[in-house]
Amino acid sequence: MRPDAWHGPVDADARAAVARLLAGAQHGVVAIVEAGHPVLRHPAEPYTGQVGDLLPALLDVMRATMRAAPGVGLAAPQIGLPLAIAVLEDPGLPAGMEAAADERERTVLPPRVLVNPSYERVGHEDRAFYEGCLSVPGYQGVVRRPRSVRLRGQDADGRELDEVLTGWPARIVQHETDHLAGVLYVDSVETRSLSTNEMYARAWAGEATPRAAAGALGFRLDS
Ligand code: ZN
Repeated sequence: MRPDAWHGPVDADARAAVARLLAGAQHGVVAIVEAGHPVLRHPAEPYTGQVGDLLPALLDVMRATMRAAPGVGLAAPQIGLPLAIAVLEDPGLPAGMEAAADERERTVLPPRVLVNPSYERVGHEDRAFYEGCLSVPGYQGVVRRPRSVRLRGQDADGRELDEVLTGWPARIVQHETDHLAGVLYVDSVETRSLSTNEMYARAWAGEATPRAAAGALGFRLDS
């Protein structure tokens, strides 16, 4: 981490909010804000250096909180901070679920940081799969998204990002970037697909998803 990567002024209020968050962490983990909290429904502020020297510690807490949940992404508003920062990491599906991983194009995504991300669709293909959100605990639902997107923004050191992602990594990037715009997956979920975590694990987490779910639960995949 280069300390001079961000040139904007430190915002005393934002830095103090992060300091409070870090002080309240238990084993490096903080509470996740749940749907109904306004911070999840407002666009996050572009990150320009507001938290100053606390950025590395903030990213550590975000990663630890994501891993403890466990989840494959966490946006700063999900811990109550309205800043355009997200962390991602996907270890992939466990052994024995190769077919489900292939179906989802779910590959291992090493830890990474997105700052001020944006994305745009690449190509015309969509994919519909179950996904969930740490801020909407207890449920999973089918969301149709572009299969490939072009990601732009910065990394933790302020370096510019411009790359095309496909499959599950593209889905994670879209989900987390949407958080930074005040958008939750439930805004575009196929409502008839909604399943509790227990039912999802029992019925739709494997190869059966999502076409069998569409037939069994009464929704269309192609509209
Ligand atoms: Zn989420």
